[in-house]
This record gives sequence, structure tokens and C-alpha cells, in this order.
Amino acid sequence: MDAYNELLGILKDIDMMDQVRSLLGWDQEVLMPPKAAELRGEQIAWISRESHKRKTSPRVGELLDELEERVDLGDIESANVRLAREAYDKATRLPTEFVSELAKHNSKSLISWTEARKNNDFSIFRDDLAKSIDFARKKADYLGYEDLRYDALLDIYESGLTVSRLDPLFEGLRNKVAPLIRSVAERGERPDISWVTENSWEQPGQERLSQKVSESIGFDFEAGRRDASTHPFCGGPNPDDVRWTTRYSETDPFGSLYGSMHETGHGTYEQGRPRDLDFQPAGKANGLGIHESQSRLWENQIGRSLEFCQWSLPLWKEQFPENMQGVEAEDLWRAVNLVEPSLIRVEADEATYNIHIMIRYEIEKLLISGDLEVDDLPDKWDDMYEEYLGIRPTDSSSGVLQDIHWSMGAIGYFPTYTLGNLYSAQLLSAAREDLPEHDAQIRGGDFSPLLDWMRKKVHKRGSILKPAELIEEATGSPPSPEAFVEYLANKVRLLYSI
Ligand code: ZN
Repeated sequence: MDAYNELLGILKDIDMMDQVRSLLGWDQEVLMPPKAAELRGEQIAWISRESHKRKTSPRVGELLDELEERVDLGDIESANVRLAREAYDKATRLPTEFVSELAKHNSKSLISWTEARKNNDFSIFRDDLAKSIDFARKKADYLGYEDLRYDALLDIYESGLTVSRLDPLFEGLRNKVAPLIRSVAERGERPDISWVTENSWEQPGQERLSQKVSESIGFDFEAGRRDASTHPFCGGPNPDDVRWTTRYSETDPFGSLYGSMHETGHGTYEQGRPRDLDFQPAGKANGLGIHESQSRLWENQIGRSLEFCQWSLPLWKEQFPENMQGVEAEDLWRAVNLVEPSLIRVEADEATYNIHIMIRYEIEKLLISGDLEVDDLPDKWDDMYEEYLGIRPTDSSSGVLQDIHWSMGAIGYFPTYTLGNLYSAQLLSAAREDLPEHDAQIRGGDFSPLLDWMRKKVHKRGSILKPAELIEEATGSPPSPEAFVEYLANKVRLLYSI
């Protein structure tokens, strides 16, 4: 058999295993009875091992060596070979013993972090975190890098991402967004949102609202599902079966709707993948940053616009006629756009969110390079919050212990959140040039022109290009913070008259 087709055959087997594993994972989060947990763990570990065996099989290495010599490969073939090479190197460069020690350490570390957070005591997590940082450094050394160790960790989550590419993006944010937040804090008048906080919002109404909005955006419920889970996510095995979840709170009606729009964004991306490239790496969604751009687009760029609030107001009134009495579209818009520095990242607004990420990024760089000791971490964290957001955590649970990522060894992951925000602004500003009626379309609930634009420029392009190249192809310029900064400055000016 031809080497290329033989490689595609192996990649299809791996993909089928990953599809089955994703269904097992979805079931674990959403439906599984508690007693099934132990055997489910074994099932998932077994299928992960089997898929790892195929991912690291020496035959894949031989086929890649052969194919990399070929000069007759087209764009898609070359992309498949490049992506298969990246995956093969990542899977084979880490010694088996290192991988199993790391997995053991991560489960121990997750427990000590949970304990530390519960007891508000950083010292419980300290030793495991120090070890995690050592593991991350070793991992970077195994994977290889050109300039900085941290680059190897960034590359795990977004191919080709480096500190030299990220620094200018974060610098743009730091210089422009931080002063904006300060001026809101100093001069902005806080809108009255008592109509939100003083009412109770029943779950069935929130569910109907989420369903209606997700359908209107264009999520295909014949090829997907909406469910509830403690940690909202979007999963499912393939574009014909995309499953997202949300969570409900009767005191906060925005969490479920905006969470639903976020996951709907991830879901429409999955449903829009190029079907002629099923089972192939080039047909997959293009990395975490681009994925997050699709969720942030619908959640924030669209969902928190005045036009969207004008369209959705009647839906709110239909589900919650008493709570919404006398509420105008502009009141809704102000309530979903409250800008307020807070300590907790996951509750942060659109403006302050990226400052939370910037702080984590700077800290990770220092930890990996050894310029910051774990013992000095809590103070450094608090100092940076004070410097950039003007607030200081009073305890470590709402400070340095708040995120799960480091306890799972996910160092280098945070920046993809901010990339998603920057990409979403850049993509929407390019889409607007092609869609002169965009605002009127959103006000009228016609989301298909924008979704079609994303389908054509982003979804259908799979992973044929590297993430930064895809952004450049779709928008005409390389990744940059400008569109986001401009979008935010305009919005804050309108909201707070500054
Ligand atoms: Zn997301």
C-alpha cells in the first residue's frame, strides 16, 4: 500500500479510539451513576493506552520519514504529514516511565490542591507544585525548544506559539486595557442591576432561553445535544454528534445563557469541520486558541452587544415576564457588561479577564525560568493583582489557589484563553468588512451571515494551516491585540461615558 494511505489508515484507527473515549468521558460527566466511576476509570485508561500504542508505533515513524522526503504532496497531504509528525514527536519524546510518574504525580497534586484550596492554606500544595514545575521543565527538555523552555510548554496547546510571539500581544493589552479598567473604576458610574439580583430566575425558563438562542445561532440539534453538568464543556465524538453542557443558578440568569452561547460557539465549530477530511488531522479544529475564538465570538462579541440585547429582550420577557417588567434592551446590555475588577478569573468580565491571564502568563514564565521561587509565589501573585487590577486577595483560595490548571500540570495553557479573545475580535472586525449589514442582522436575529462567514474562513479550513497562518488568511493580518483593544475601548466609552 502507498505510504500516505497506510498512514491515514493508522490515523483513522487512532481517531476512532479517541471518538469512543470522548463518549465515555461525556457520559462520565453527565449521566453515569456514581458506582460506575471505578470501572469507567479503567475503561478510559485502557482505551488511552491502546490509542497511545498506535500513536507511538515505530511504523508511524517510518511512514513519516518516507513521506517527508516526498515533494509531490498537496496542501492537505502536507498538513496531515506535518500534524502527524507533531503528534508522533510529542508522544514519543517523553519516556514511558516519565509519563507514568507524571500521571501519578498529577493525581496526587490534584488532591493536595483541593485540600489546600478548601483549607485556604498554600503550604499544603507547595511541595507538589514545586515538583510540578520540575516535571514541566523536564517535559520541555524532552520535547525540545529553540529559545526558551516555556516555549515548548506553550507549543503543547497551540502549535508554533512562543514567548516572542505572545509578549507583544500581552504588552498591547497591558498598556491599553489596564488604564481603561482604572478609569472605569475611578470615574465610571455603576449601573443599577437590582432587577437581576433581587429576583429569582427559575431553571426551566433559563433552559428554554438557552435552547432558543443556541438554535437561532445555528447549532444543529439533530447533530448534537444540550445537557447540564457541574463543569460546562463541549465534547462529543464527531461533527454529527456534538454535545455541550451548561449549568444553572436561580440567582444568576446570565451564567447559563452566556455559558450556553460560549459552548454553542465551540459546538458550531465542531459541526462545521470539513467532512471530506473526516478522521484526518487536517480536518480537525485548529488548536485551543482558535477554538476559544469561536466560543468568545458568540458569548462576548455578539452576545454582549447592544444589538443582540435588542433582539433577545422579547425572549427574556417571554420566559420571565414578571422579572423583566420595565426592563429595556439598554438595561439588559448594561447588566451583561458590568466592568468590575474582581479576584476570581472565571467570574471576570470581558475587560478584566485578559489581565487575569496576563498575570498567570508572567508568573509561569518566571516559575519555569527559575526567576521566581515557589515560596515567593503567593506574594508575587497578590502584588500583581494589586498593581494591575487595584485589588489585593485577602486569602489564597481567592488568590493563587483558585485555578485547577497547575495542579493538573497544565502549565502553558492559560494564554490560549487570551488568544481566543484577541482572535475573536480580529475575526469579527474582518467579517464586518464583508457584512455591511452586520449590526442590523444581529438586531433582527439573523445570525446566518456571520456563521456562514466563520464556516468558510475558519471551520472549513480545519487544521490545514497553522493557527497564526489561519488568522492571517482569514483577516488579512497576523495575530494582534489591536482589534480587541479598539473593540473594548469603544464599548467601555459607550457604557461608562468615558
Ligand atoms: Zn471555551
